[in-house]
Amino acid sequence: DEAEWAQFDEAGLPEDESAPTPQPVLAVVGRPNVGKSTLVNRLLGRREAVVQDVPGVTRDRVAYDALWNGRRFTVVDTGGWEPDAKGLQAAVAAQAEMAMSTADAVLLVVDAQVGATATEEAVAKVLRRSKRPVLVAANKVDDERTMAEAHTLWSLGLGEPMPVSGLHGRGSGDLLDRILDTFPDTPREEFGATGGPRRVALVGKPNVGKSSLLNRLTGELRAVVDDVAGTTVDPVDSLVELDGEVWRFVDTAGLRKRVKTASGTEYYASLRTKAAIEAAEVAIVLVDASEPLSEQDLRVFTMVVEAGRALVIAYNKWDLVDEDRRHQLEKEIDRELVRVRWAERVNVSAQTGRAVAKLAPTLRTALASWDTRIPTGQLNSWLSDLVAANPPPVRGGKQPKILFATQAHPRPPTLVLFTTGFLEAGYRRFLERKFRETFGFTGSPVRISVRVRE
Ligand code: GDP
Ligand code: GDP
Repeated sequence: DEAEWAQFDEAGLPEDESAPTPQPVLAVVGRPNVGKSTLVNRLLGRREAVVQDVPGVTRDRVAYDALWNGRRFTVVDTGGWEPDAKGLQAAVAAQAEMAMSTADAVLLVVDAQVGATATEEAVAKVLRRSKRPVLVAANKVDDERTMAEAHTLWSLGLGEPMPVSGLHGRGSGDLLDRILDTFPDTPREEFGATGGPRRVALVGKPNVGKSSLLNRLTGELRAVVDDVAGTTVDPVDSLVELDGEVWRFVDTAGLRKRVKTASGTEYYASLRTKAAIEAAEVAIVLVDASEPLSEQDLRVFTMVVEAGRALVIAYNKWDLVDEDRRHQLEKEIDRELVRVRWAERVNVSAQTGRAVAKLAPTLRTALASWDTRIPTGQLNSWLSDLVAANPPPVRGGKQPKILFATQAHPRPPTLVLFTTGFLEAGYRRFLERKFRETFGFTGSPVRISVRVRE
């Protein structure tokens, strides 16, 4: 019977093939029982608890967020990868291969109390070919006595072994410093912290009621605030107080003009709209509810989605909508607005003031979604269950494997899936739908990109 993902083929999500740069990835490899999970827990500082392993049961979570010295990175425990290769030695070597092509750095964990076994020799041989940096952790160095054992691991030909004790934490700070040194410089600041009033674009084709709504918002709800402490107001923007909060409506100069000139070409108007959307964090797209949706309306939605901004749909002139028109409208929405069905809709009237008070809470919901970052552990726990139940479709005779995922950044929320093969668009849309079912993201676009290991 049909795979569950097949029904999402027509959903019309924009493709996003250009994988963003997620936080750097460290893959941890090594034989079972050398202490990988214990050490990973230590590296995470227990920020994200690793599920305790049950012997013989595959781990269901493989990737986690780590933070050290203000820098974020992802730690991947390859124990959860289940390579198909036969035999321990081949299995660990296959993990190492996978780690090398997926991660920015590889950490080989060795049990210093046991020393290098044939398996470590074989894995080291693979890792010495790596183009990415490789570090060796000599684990279970609980005291000075085992220090000497750590030094014997120079023989692996992978540089200086780092003595650590995952159990007691010994040496883990030095190890973390070394790990960060191997990564390319990443910004220390959290992505996109802006401060000040949240920026809103009020957009829509001509005559939908943008000026009327702005006038309504600035007139009825306390006049334009033009002196908020610590903010400089660009004269093309309006500061508007809605529901006890000040918002910056960007690029409203054209809307405030009393007499609007009809001279602007559609091309010019579209450039203005695009600029306003780019300058904003969230867009209110105004639509005239009394008329059928037009191509021009749809183009505005496309601009918002492509710019990756949060979205609120406002159906204006609701005072003109009768029973018949309402039925028509519901059908239009089902048919034409599929690709933005995650956005909330408010039915307003700039003329009567109907429901304009709903705008502020709706904007807040959309922005909260837009700002959300799902912790990597939680994301992978969800993903592995979903993928186990609905594996990606076979392509060219091969079944791509999804190794792990991270949210590269919020604003807009962008997931990066690390895979062993191409994922069909239909399957990616299915993942997005399921992702939204679990995590919500009402009012925000979500991007999913795929990074196929070479
Ligand atoms: P993994 O299979 O590589 O993930 O290994 P685990 O993290 O599950 O650890 C295997 C065993 O080694 C457990 O009993 C741990 O308590 C123990 N272990 C882990 N790290 C250390 C350490 O630094 N010192 C000692 N003495 N034991 C450790
Ligand atoms: P803009 O070009 O998008 O800024 O649209 P305007 O604000 O200039 O409005 C275009 C026309 O629609 C004007 O004649 C407004 O009076 C009218 N209009 C705006 N909002 C409403 C509304 O909620 N209901 C009704 N009936 N007319 C409206």
